[in-house]
Amino acid sequence: MSNTSDAIRSAEAHSAHNYHPLPVVVASAEGAWMTDVEGRRYLDMLAGYSALNFGHGNRRLLDAAKAQLERVTLTSRAFHHDRFADFCTQLAALCGKDMVLPMNTGAEAVETAVKTARKWGYEVKGVPDGHAKIVVAANNFHGRTTTIVSFSTDHEARDHYGPYTPGFEIVPYGDLTAMEAAVTAHTVAVLIEPIQGEAGVLVPPPGYLAGVRELTRRKNVLFMADEIQSGLGRTGRTFACEHEGVVPDVYVLGKALGGGVVPVSAVVADRDVLGVFKPGEHGSTFGGNPLACAVGLEVVAMLRTGEYQQRAAELGDHLHRELGLLVGGGAVTAVRGRGLWAGVDIAPGHGTGRDVSERLMERGVLVKDTHGATIRIAPPLVISKEDLDWGLDQLRAVLDA
Ligand SMILES: *Cc1c(COP(=O)(O)O)cnc(C)c1O
Repeated sequence: MSNTSDAIRSAEAHSAHNYHPLPVVVASAEGAWMTDVEGRRYLDMLAGYSALNFGHGNRRLLDAAKAQLERVTLTSRAFHHDRFADFCTQLAALCGKDMVLPMNTGAEAVETAVKTARKWGYEVKGVPDGHAKIVVAANNFHGRTTTIVSFSTDHEARDHYGPYTPGFEIVPYGDLTAMEAAVTAHTVAVLIEPIQGEAGVLVPPPGYLAGVRELTRRKNVLFMADEIQSGLGRTGRTFACEHEGVVPDVYVLGKALGGGVVPVSAVVADRDVLGVFKPGEHGSTFGGNPLACAVGLEVVAMLRTGEYQQRAAELGDHLHRELGLLVGGGAVTAVRGRGLWAGVDIAPGHGTGRDVSERLMERGVLVKDTHGATIRIAPPLVISKEDLDWGLDQLRAVLDA
């Protein structure tokens, strides 16, 4: 019996089946490549859903983590530690904001943003206590907590987890008229993904983000951008909002902020927003720990040069040019995305997204399907052009078969 099937059988026997992984068992990885327990190599075209923007085993990030491992890894926020101020200062500067509230996972950062908006609504905007509303978009993905799935429109994510947290208004994504109609005097925030990742890499119509900015400013409502997947270089800019010259009130960050090494997330905003928190009113044992801050600080330093953003923009143009040629060829009905990020819709009769992912795996390329007919392509930003082209060759071969 192979190591692969043994490992998969044990995993299925002793872990909850809340995922349906491709049948590959990874043992090591470097850059854009992963090696399985049988020694087979795969090009990683998913990058941990954008948590691995800087690639596997990135030298700078590993060095930062190793140095910190030897010094101090956890203090709790009961005490100051000597990486905290730097991380918060540098991340705030990268975002052009005053303050950072560090957490660990993306969902925790979204929860923190929701709490921020409600508190701001009651204490600054003057909404009557208990009446705050947050406007969100249909087909959103913001994480898996009870409150977050309360405003999901995905039945798999939401069903049988009620009773649900109230206070959310769902409007169609990309529809400014519907959003304006949903905003009332009790609305404290609009929470959206600048590009909807999980939904299939849906790019909103031109002008949408700028319109949300204008609307939220006019109505005294916080614009909270969940840039957990779209941010930190993926789309060719530091933030996807930049493509429309938009600066939201609140950035929600995660995934690549931890460099694929540790979970690091954060809410970033100005003092008039994040200043609502006083001691004891919110927190996390692990949030802002020394190891997380050391890695996050290095991530911020790497993003400051703009080299990863430029790479994502250049390779992304190439990726979208190549993928665009597949549309209309029979096997692909549509391609969307920005930078090194694409959703590719597979035509009926050419297999499901899962089928295509499995056939790509057999050819040494790892991607992930979403919503049945779509595959999501999001390689590490450090991928070479040659490797990207090789991955595209495999996709063409799978679609031609
Ligand atoms: C992944 C993701 C989250 C949740 O992050 P976790 O770290 O998995 O909790 C939230 N929002 C968006 C847009 C994401 O892509």
